Amino acid sequence: TEELSGKHVTVAGLGVSGMPAAKVLHRLGARVTAVNGGDGQGPRRQAAELEALGIAVRLGDDRTLPEGTELIVTTPGFKPAAPLFRAAAEAGVPVWGDVELAWRLRGPDAPPWLAVTGTNGKTTTVQMLASILRAAGLRTAAVGNIGVSLIDVVLEQEPYAGLDVLAVELSSYQLHWAPGLRPHSGAVLNLAPDHLDWHGSMEAYAADKGRIYEGNQVACVYNADDAGGSDNAAGTGADPAPRTEDLVRAADVVEGARAIGFTLGTPAPSQLGVVEGVLVDRAFVADRQQQAQELAEIGDVHPPAPHNIANALAAAALARAFGVPAAAVRDGLRAFRPDAHRITHVAEVDGVFFVDDSKATNTHAAEASLAAYDSIVWIAGGLAKGATFDELVARSAPRLRGVVLIGADRELIGQALARHAPDVPVADLERTDTGAMAEAVREAMSMARPGDTVLLAPACASMDMFVNYNARGDAFAEAVRALAAAAGHSE
Ligand code: ADP
Repeated sequence: TEELSGKHVTVAGLGVSGMPAAKVLHRLGARVTAVNGGDGQGPRRQAAELEALGIAVRLGDDRTLPEGTELIVTTPGFKPAAPLFRAAAEAGVPVWGDVELAWRLRGPDAPPWLAVTGTNGKTTTVQMLASILRAAGLRTAAVGNIGVSLIDVVLEQEPYAGLDVLAVELSSYQLHWAPGLRPHSGAVLNLAPDHLDWHGSMEAYAADKGRIYEGNQVACVYNADDAGGSDNAAGTGADPAPRTEDLVRAADVVEGARAIGFTLGTPAPSQLGVVEGVLVDRAFVADRQQQAQELAEIGDVHPPAPHNIANALAAAALARAFGVPAAAVRDGLRAFRPDAHRITHVAEVDGVFFVDDSKATNTHAAEASLAAYDSIVWIAGGLAKGATFDELVARSAPRLRGVVLIGADRELIGQALARHAPDVPVADLERTDTGAMAEAVREAMSMARPGDTVLLAPACASMDMFVNYNARGDAFAEAVRALAAAAGHSE
């Protein structure tokens, strides 16, 4: 904290992460100027709140560097290409994100960080990891991008309320601006195109994810099933992407740190994988020529979909790197249940199952959840964020009974269906209003046959129609309940 006292720090952006950052820096004695591009009512209210604390605010210009700036603390709203950072680079001013700030402030007694990133599965994996650590009797918290500010944890819980270890979720945005981060161990779960408009390219996105391995002290956990290449660039037409294993190779780790792969197949030495329905660890016993250690059964993982088994293996690998015994992995996985809107079973109506995976906000996530069912009426659409849908549709077509399209970019999915699944019936509702979900659910029901699954896995962001993916999932669940009630009446 001493290095911040008296320093001229510019906070880029007001809002959910800018406001607390400005306040914390001010409290630590920095001379803070918060800058924001917009100067409407919201920003003016936030500015007033900061100014009342004695923090300087500049509204209407977030492109130029305030006089005397020695450090920028930035928020995800700013892309790396933003003019402010060009000005900073020219002036030799460093830029930190919230994670870098937390890392610098963490103090000498900080618990080790077990860090997780990836395009999909981060929150689930971090929660599984925390559950496993708890089952081992360790005091831990799931923090970071999961919705618990690392800065708050680092400052408010000093000295960490006796926490033994942190399970940390990190986004690619956070990693981009965390040059000093050196976790105990880190995992990249998977790589698929997402947020490319922010990072600029698939390669830049992957490189930012790969930062999680920098300076790892004990283990770099990677996805051994990740084929890389054009597979990881599917949906972009972009350059072939590196594999998570390549990112480990490119990283500068502490001597003695090991690379540990996880696979849905039979694990090689130094990997965790699945043998006959049992999660097996060959990473920590291989050197000693012992039998592979059994960790858990597939049935211990909820839900037992393939992508989620991969998440469980990654969590187990990190926990094992921290010294957790095999039995705690099983107990922790058994105790875990995923958050809402992640493959949540909503109801069964006349033999048709309704599943809410509203959190499937990109094609990679939607593909994982479509792969978990045999005969599906798929509700899809929303904001595509620059993605294309050809690969997703081509691979999922055999399992589709029908498709209901909603949302702003539904035509992109419709075109991919016409190209790769011309025989699958498609209902384009041509609606982007919130009420469209109820119609989508009724339409899906009319397409489904008993035994089918109606799956909300939109492959798109929700903000064209809803506040967020939670609201989208809630609207789906509400519509399904209305349908169930109506079906009950008509019987
Ligand atoms: P994140 O925090 O990375 O957004 P979540 O755990 O919240 O990840 O899961 C988001 C969505 O991604 C889930 O709804 C599911 O559809 C999908 N998903 C979860 N794990 C994986 C995985 N390992 N591979 C592909 N998709 C996944």
